Amino acid sequence: MKPRTEIKIALAGNPNSGKTSIFNGLTGAHQKVANFPGVTVEKRIGHKNYKDYGITIVDLPGTYSLTAYSLDEKVARDFICQEDPDLVVNVIDSGNLERSLYLTMQLIEMGIDFVIDLNMWDEAVEAGIEIDVDRLSQLLGAPVVKTIGNRAQGIESLLETIIALYEGRKDEHRHPMVSYGSQLDDIVSDLTREVHHCKGCRHCANPRWVAIKLLEDDRDIKRRFLSNREVSAELTKKLNDSLDHLKATTTEDPEIVITEGRYGYVAGIVRKVMSHPKSDRMKMSTSVDNVLTHRIIGYPVFLIIMWLIFQATFSLGQYPMEWIDAGVSILQQWASATISSGMFADMVIDGIIGGIGSVIIFLPNIVILFLGIALLEDSGYMARAAFLMDRLMRYIGLHGKSFIPMLMGFGCSVPAIMATRTLESPRDRILTILLLPLMSCSARLPVYILFAGAFFGAHAGNVIFSIYILGVVVAIIMAQLLRRTILRADDIPFVMELPPYRMPTAKSVVIHMWDRTKIYLQKMGGVILVASIILWALGYFPQKKEFSQDYDAQIAALAVQDTEPAADSIAVLEQARIAEVMEYTVIGRLGQAIKPVVEPLGFNWQMGVALISGFIAKEVVVSSMGVLYQLGEEAEDNFGQLSKVLRDPERGVSPLVAYAFMVFVLLYTPCIVSVLAIKREIGSRWMWFSVVFQMALAWCLTFIVYQGGLLIGLK
Ligand code: GDP
Ligand code: MG
Repeated sequence: MKPRTEIKIALAGNPNSGKTSIFNGLTGAHQKVANFPGVTVEKRIGHKNYKDYGITIVDLPGTYSLTAYSLDEKVARDFICQEDPDLVVNVIDSGNLERSLYLTMQLIEMGIDFVIDLNMWDEAVEAGIEIDVDRLSQLLGAPVVKTIGNRAQGIESLLETIIALYEGRKDEHRHPMVSYGSQLDDIVSDLTREVHHCKGCRHCANPRWVAIKLLEDDRDIKRRFLSNREVSAELTKKLNDSLDHLKATTTEDPEIVITEGRYGYVAGIVRKVMSHPKSDRMKMSTSVDNVLTHRIIGYPVFLIIMWLIFQATFSLGQYPMEWIDAGVSILQQWASATISSGMFADMVIDGIIGGIGSVIIFLPNIVILFLGIALLEDSGYMARAAFLMDRLMRYIGLHGKSFIPMLMGFGCSVPAIMATRTLESPRDRILTILLLPLMSCSARLPVYILFAGAFFGAHAGNVIFSIYILGVVVAIIMAQLLRRTILRADDIPFVMELPPYRMPTAKSVVIHMWDRTKIYLQKMGGVILVASIILWALGYFPQKKEFSQDYDAQIAALAVQDTEPAADSIAVLEQARIAEVMEYTVIGRLGQAIKPVVEPLGFNWQMGVALISGFIAKEVVVSSMGVLYQLGEEAEDNFGQLSKVLRDPERGVSPLVAYAFMVFVLLYTPCIVSVLAIKREIGSRWMWFSVVFQMALAWCLTFIVYQGGLLIGLK
């Protein structure tokens, strides 16, 4: 038997070109996820046995360029450069040929063999775009395959092409040479020769590429090739001479000339191979865009769309909420009837079912919010929103690209923090990550729903909306402040493109929604379950055995009387006993300890403890309120009961305090998972900064809201 030939390939392409779809099509289930060396960027590796070949496939991060400005670009480039794949599959969105080929130009410069995969062929056909595939293949000196990634069409022929290229690759390079104008071309070839002779550059991939990068003033490459003075003295001299010469004879920066050269080359290719009637869909998109991205009308429309989503989240979510609440109570009753009473029963009924129950009840709201976000993403409106916000973002000192992570932050900060990797400058990343937690994540929604629902009735939707807006406003102010103090930086220009509007398909909306809901459910099963049990235990031990008065005897005596005043006294006595029990437990003591800190904000000790538990996960704030108010025994429906208790004149709070509490929950340190994500992305120094910064911000603003409210006579 012939031994299997091993081939290593990498998938490169723009974000959303369908790389992952192609990757899945190629590898099926044979894939695993790891990290690229030294960084936390996810690396998917898959394997495919095809005929006599064992093909290892790596899905590189999606990038538009390989200039190594951003982490994703650097990872993709280092992989191609250092891990030396046999060939690259360049996945291209056929509907965006021009934009996609810019990356291809850089693959040509690197001198790597590649297959062009014209993906999304169906969309190109539908849009009436015609591409002369043979011509394209000729011009790029690379084989071209058409695929439809999401339906796994063309995968077989992609595999065949990969193998054909691999087997035939000993032929000399057929790639064309990208030209940057005659003067620069001469300099590039001079420098290339020098790199070729340079002793320190033996291991490098392609001398011409290194030469181009040196002219582009690429920090990374300079560090690698010029840091060793001895071996690179001549190269350094040559480079400086060339740059001096350029400076003397032209006014243009070589980096710009090179970039323009690539664009010019791409434009030439596109003109030769593609005909592009303006499709109806694009025309439709353009006229819709005239309204939706209008420089004035666009903003109110955006606000209205957001407002509608929040309204739907609150009002539509109410019905399933009631059902779930009833279901949880039935479960609790069933459990108390089945399990013999004792500590274990208490733990199951109050701790586990009570804790999880008070969080799962918000699942409908969260599903609706995620549905809204999925619809925005899939229809193409999200890109418009980003476009619209670009100007605003710049105005407040943030990069336009920060908007997408910010928007994702409304779902969950953790993936949003990871999404900042597309930002080029480290300062932009740090700033965006610091401000992200101010975008109110969906875990905080349960707290708002509970408090706004209990205190503001029909206006609950508006009150919640105001909290979200407050987060955004605070973020804007903080951006200004940080930008002017510890995070000064220059702007990096960028292009934002607008994909055509698409009718969201039910399947993809459901998948997107489910992906996020799944994370929520997993969190509930893990973090929140454990937190509920711990909280329950902290509120259960130590158990008080001796009371200040003999409640049982007094209650028994009153019970005999069987009159209304007697029943009232019994209720009072029971309350007093619960209070004594609670004060004696760990949580009660904790509550006493933090009282001085939260009292100026109007919070009672239950709220203070609930906030501490919120470090684990913000949803836990609500479940711990349930546990702290000891609703287990008296509850028929937990949620209704909890909102009643909160409004209770004796044990509850005022609307002003409720609002102040929401403000605090919005602003204070995010959950432990996102704190860890921050640490992973930008290091522990910034993590601590973020924690302290948010705590201080929350306390101060809540203080202003509460005390200010009191001053103007609110209650
Ligand atoms: P990546 O960002 O490059 O990894 O892109 P994905 O594989 O995640 O694909 C982005 C979106 O395009 C997904 O919704 C895919 O289902 C869709 N998609 C991928 N390939 C095609 C294709 O050939 N045709 C169409 N119409 N959609 C595609
Ligand atoms: Mg992908």
